[in-house]
Amino acid sequence: MENFTLAMPATIEAALAAAQQADAKFIAGGTDLLQLMKDNVERPQRLVDLEGLPLDTFSMGADGARIGTLVRMSDLADDPTLRRHYPVIAEALLASASPQVRNMATIGGNLLQRTRCGYFRDVGFPACNKRQPGSGCGAILGLNRLHAVLGGSDYCVATHASDLAVALAALDATIEVQGGNGTRAVPINEFYVLPANTPQRETVAGIGGGRRRGRGRPDPQGAGRDGRGRHQAVAAGRRRGGAGRHDSDPGGADERGSARRRGRPAAQ
Ligand SMILES: Cc1cc2nc3c(=O)[nH]c(=O)nc-3n(C[C@H](O)[C@H](O)[C@H](O)COP(=O)(O)OP(=O)(O)OC[C@H]3O[C@@H](n4cnc5c(N)ncnc54)[C@H](O)[C@@H]3O)c2cc1C
Ligand code: SF4
Repeated sequence: MENFTLAMPATIEAALAAAQQADAKFIAGGTDLLQLMKDNVERPQRLVDLEGLPLDTFSMGADGARIGTLVRMSDLADDPTLRRHYPVIAEALLASASPQVRNMATIGGNLLQRTRCGYFRDVGFPACNKRQPGSGCGAILGLNRLHAVLGGSDYCVATHASDLAVALAALDATIEVQGGNGTRAVPINEFYVLPANTPQRETVAGIGGGRRRGRGRPDPQGAGRDGRGRHQAVAAGRRRGGAGRHDSDPGGADERGSARRRGRPAAQ
């Protein structure tokens, strides 16, 4: 793993500002990012730790559930209100990873984890357009039994690994994205983008809200930045409609509701 600096901002604004620096990356629970760093797949020079931000709450209101990006997977899966109103979310979370991982991993990190494609995660394989744009795709003519049947391209056939994303898609959830340009709500079915010829770009959070289309040569510009070259962060997930208020949130819209927080790993 390469050396990196660690910023621990106390406000969302400070976190967004810290992420504007070159080679900076957000870290939440670290269960995906740290492994990729240890394997030299990701090599950020600066980590911006989201742990201190007030985004670790889950609440229910008239417009549905609101889930902070820093809510732990295990806390959300255990929440009785969530289980009653949205059992599919709890089931998707409990089908994911292991109890130990779920105790650390966050909702935002789950939605933004990288693909489990083995060629992407092993730098010993030189060809991976997602890791190194223009290098080719090892999976297309290689081991691709668990890769995409629909939606792939000539450049990438990777699938997204999040079970939670599938449940949220079934519920027509909305992702709230906050960046230098303010906050915007993106339907989850528009949040993720297909690989096309820029598989390194995985969500609209990285491309300023426009949907990427078209074919051609891989675009060497990296993901994670909006149209003006600025990083954006997922602030919260929300599902509109459906469930009403419930007893654990008398205010109905209190973001600092019920979610609890557990320890975090030391970044090293
Ligand atoms: C052994 C194992 C098995 C697993 N099995 C499953 C499984 O079956 N199903 C499944 O769905 N997942 C599975 N996972 C993936 C796991 O769910 C993710 O590692 C975890 O959810 C990531 O959350 P985190 O908070 O640790 O994210 P981190 O590792 O901290 O971050 C992941 C990525 O998200 C970015 N990020 C995090 N939060 C934000 C934010 N708020 N704004 C912008 N960017 C952000 C980071 O920059 C990074 O790129 C497994 C993981 C392991 C280690
Ligand atoms: S499927 Fe995508 S992630 Fe996997 S090797 Fe090909 S380009 Fe890389």
